Amino acid sequence: MLVTLEHPVYQYGNIILPKRQIVKSANVFCKKLEVALYRVYNDNVVRTFIEQENEMRVFDLHTDTMMDIANKVGKGEKDILAKYHLQHYKEGEIGGQIFAMWVPKKYEDAADYFIESDATSQELMMRMLARCFKEFRDYDTVKIAYNAEDIERIYESGQIPVLLGFEGFYGFDGELGMIDVMYDLGFRHGMLTWNDDNEFASGVEFTDEDKGLSPLGVETIKRMESLGMLIDVSHASQKTFWDIMDVTTGPIIASHSNAWALCNAPRNLRDEQIRAIAERGGVIGMNGWKGFICEDMETATVHDLARHARYIADLVGPEYVACGFDFSNYFDPTEGTPGIENAGKSQNFVQALFDVGFSEKDVQAIAWDNALRVIKKVLG
Ligand SMILES: [Zn+2]
Repeated sequence: MLVTLEHPVYQYGNIILPKRQIVKSANVFCKKLEVALYRVYNDNVVRTFIEQENEMRVFDLHTDTMMDIANKVGKGEKDILAKYHLQHYKEGEIGGQIFAMWVPKKYEDAADYFIESDATSQELMMRMLARCFKEFRDYDTVKIAYNAEDIERIYESGQIPVLLGFEGFYGFDGELGMIDVMYDLGFRHGMLTWNDDNEFASGVEFTDEDKGLSPLGVETIKRMESLGMLIDVSHASQKTFWDIMDVTTGPIIASHSNAWALCNAPRNLRDEQIRAIAERGGVIGMNGWKGFICEDMETATVHDLARHARYIADLVGPEYVACGFDFSNYFDPTEGTPGIENAGKSQNFVQALFDVGFSEKDVQAIAWDNALRVIKKVLG
């Protein structure tokens, strides 16, 4: 729904407003009308845009929102995106996201994140799929995209385009064929592991040794590349990262990792990894979690995150930097980094990019264009 003011109000009672004030008053009126309509039509998608200075739409390469949907639906709630997320998307000008599905490898870890702690990885995955797909069907807040053209079309229609992805193939039970099943369900993105290791590969916190890709992992990565899926190395161990580089030829992404040189966290990328991703024409999404921004995480701010973007851009160029905020405020509101606590604050990152010296063209590229370039190249 678009709000337009075809007949601006020239006169308020007996007061005739000068031209500049008329425009200002009209804008205020539009904004109030927009907010009112948003509240009235909250059951559907009402995302209207009134352009503001320095605001840019943002593509966020990583969010765990599907877990939030699954848990809240499991507690009997519904319309989770409209109730808990849509206002943040709107305030932060989030124009698209990758929804990454994560389930824990270990049975006992489920209790920390899921309302059903007695389920196996595969059972959790199936429940999450069922609950999320039902929400997507019943409520018109997000729409699943399959390529770059879909993203632009869905965005222009006023909905939030979402690419479906995986953060670790723990629910796959070691079956290669699950990639084809998930591709047919609409999934276009995947990381083989989360932090730990599984049948496919070693993650950054591998158990005994960094084994890299298993033979099954090699086959899976090759299958993902031939199907045309985004291959993501954000949680890959060092050996897994370089093994993936060895068995692929196209762009590789790190959806939510920062620069190791500025913060020595195992999830961040060494300079040689950043160069390798850039050489392939891939992209790196800046992660807003404070533990990946500063080693003394309590000092991290949105400007420190922008400095990671600056560092990577200075190393390889701004065309390889993107956004992958990894917000988890809906689980723990105290976890957020000051200035970038939730999706509603995404424009603070846009402003921080200007503040660390990026041009408008570069900020636009980091906020949206770079992510879309890679999505178009890989997914079409
Ligand atoms: Zn992650």
